Amino acid sequence: MTTATTAVQLDGVRKEFGDTIAVDGIDIDLQRGEFFSLLGPSGCGKTTTLRMISGFETPTDGSIRIEGEDVVHRPPNKRNTNLVFQSLSLFPHMTVAENVGYGLKKDGVNPGERERLIEKYLDIVDLSGYKTRKPQDLSGGQQQRVAIARALVNEPDILLLDEPLSSLDRKLRQQMQVELQEIHDRVESTFFYVTHDQDVAMSMSDRLAVMNDGRIEQIGTPKQIYREPATAFVADFIGDTNLLDGVVENTTHPPRLELEADAETTIDLGESAARGDVVASIRPEEVDLVESGAGTIDGTIVNRFFHGERTNLVIEPDDDALPELDVAVQGRSEVPDSEEVSVELNPDAMSVYAK
Ligand code: ATP
Repeated sequence: MTTATTAVQLDGVRKEFGDTIAVDGIDIDLQRGEFFSLLGPSGCGKTTTLRMISGFETPTDGSIRIEGEDVVHRPPNKRNTNLVFQSLSLFPHMTVAENVGYGLKKDGVNPGERERLIEKYLDIVDLSGYKTRKPQDLSGGQQQRVAIARALVNEPDILLLDEPLSSLDRKLRQQMQVELQEIHDRVESTFFYVTHDQDVAMSMSDRLAVMNDGRIEQIGTPKQIYREPATAFVADFIGDTNLLDGVVENTTHPPRLELEADAETTIDLGESAARGDVVASIRPEEVDLVESGAGTIDGTIVNRFFHGERTNLVIEPDDDALPELDVAVQGRSEVPDSEEVSVELNPDAMSVYAK
């Protein structure tokens, strides 16, 4: 449904390249002014989606509306969208101000207005003192900000960002994540950010869509996506999780999960749990360690990874048909001395998906 606050609406959008289905019928609504990320593994169709919004690809099927208007047959320069890529393609022979003002000049914006907008957006990206510098005399992060100012200067409704931070080292990337959020807060544009990096998407976005194999698996806030993953794919892709195959029979009340590897190991679930062949997901921090013999699965600690505020333990179940478990414990005091342990799988912390 289009509302007054919908900036972009994708409805049943599909894109085929010969036999390849790059995008397999997706629905996304971007709210005006939000920071929205499209997150998914390499090849899942993110860039193709972004290129359809910007007008560089035409959907095979479905509709794309920007500010309520169907734009499917409108060329890129007639859509109020701008793109920032990983390769920033700044003009090396031009100054920062000339780079930022290039599009305005091409569009015939008068020099006074051009100057005002260049000043405004260099200020927004915190580069006011750098107008006369050439791109090669700037740091990587500053070059990123010039590219963002150049994309914002004609005040697009939608700013499309295709992994613009992925070439930066970790520290600079984290710094730019903060700066990009601040820039977003200072302008009125809607940001659509495409990435395969869950940390980037989770930390910056108001909402995100998780994409897999051309389809949207879930749309929600970072918290919803982390706490209530809608599918086993999302649970596995976002953060760390343990995935356990099992069966839930239709006949028992409450429904009982039998871990396939060992029908002796059962967990009682809530009435609404999926039935049949299932995969259960439980986050490492939700698995409780108890004394050997007292929990759901007995095993041996085979590895310990110290991460400062927490330690991750790798536990090999005694039943070797069960997969290794990742268990996170907070602080040093809770890490057991003994190698022989038992884990308690709390059904309330478990998500169970039909296969
Ligand atoms: P990455 O994170 O690696 O950039 P992505 O999620 O952006 O990946 P896309 O670039 O959208 O994925 O590609 C989705 C699928 O469509 C891939 O299988 C890709 O090979 C295919 N594809 C993309 N563009 C074309 C094209 N012009 N011709 C043929 N196949 C294409």
